[in-house]
Amino acid sequence: MKKYLLPQTGSFYKANLHSHSTVSDGTLTPEEMKALYKSRGYAVLACTDHELMVPHHDLTDDGFLMLTGFELGFEERFHANFLHARVCDLCVLALDPDNDLQPCYHRTKYIPDDRRHLLRFDPDEPDFEREYNADCINEAIRICREKGFFVTYNHPHWSLERYEQYTKYKGMNAMEICNYSSFIDGYDEYNGPIYDDLLRLGNRLFVLGTDDNHNRRDPNCRMWDSFGAFTMIKAQALTYRSVADALLNGHFYASQGPEIHGLWLEDDVLHVTCSPADKVVCTVDQRRCMSRYAEQDKNDPAGRFATHVTFELLPDDVYFRVTVIDENGLKADTNAYFTKDHLKK
Ligand SMILES: [Zn+2]
Repeated sequence: MKKYLLPQTGSFYKANLHSHSTVSDGTLTPEEMKALYKSRGYAVLACTDHELMVPHHDLTDDGFLMLTGFELGFEERFHANFLHARVCDLCVLALDPDNDLQPCYHRTKYIPDDRRHLLRFDPDEPDFEREYNADCINEAIRICREKGFFVTYNHPHWSLERYEQYTKYKGMNAMEICNYSSFIDGYDEYNGPIYDDLLRLGNRLFVLGTDDNHNRRDPNCRMWDSFGAFTMIKAQALTYRSVADALLNGHFYASQGPEIHGLWLEDDVLHVTCSPADKVVCTVDQRRCMSRYAEQDKNDPAGRFATHVTFELLPDDVYFRVTVIDENGLKADTNAYFTKDHLKK
């Protein structure tokens, strides 16, 4: 019997879950960003403006869903020069459309005074003081999760964070395996190895592809920071609650272009169906990673591409995850799955 890891029912909705509008330092208004993304086949957008959680439900329609969120930043203060300062940036997405109270709020700090009127916060909550250290960051993650938000860890390379920092963070729902804006600017913001670092330490978290777009440059140049990384969410319907439910349950994958159509287990063999790939990789926790090349796909005798590959899993693989790589080197990444939850053996 097949056990589907990405649900068989529902539809895939293309999403950008990290973006900046004129509410903070982006160039496009939320209306313009919605129009732009909708025109390119996206169905879900989160305007995660810096420190400013502003709902945009008025832009939601039958074919497009706006999620509420913001980007919460922690900055190392020992450096006079910001270019040397490490930061930790988290995207915080409301899992309930009615949740419009900004968590981890401070009445006098971190938020531009001329923008405070845009926000709502819980008057019974104390001011949240920020320090760039794991205890404080983990406390923010805990508070946001407790208040019904989905928390993601953003662009570790741009942030100058290393193993010593990111391995101390606990409780995020997901991390960015690709952040396109950072990649465009020259950072190697494909974070598969960091994802494995966190998984191998026993953390459970998902992966997102995001644009983190600010749209400051010419749309026709290669430094336009939209449409380079996205998340495909498999949800029962294009409603806030269905999409939030899919996020919480990991019913999605991250991509720079390739598509993953199906992911299932049958007799402890993992099946992956995808858009034409040059190579498909299955990463596990131990030194037993597996790869399948185009010429090994039985469905294509000419050996030009792979569209259905299989991997045999073993009970002592703690987790497994799949990367689909197309002929241009673009990647799609599944979330990690844990064998003890899924294997029969
Ligand atoms: Zn951002």
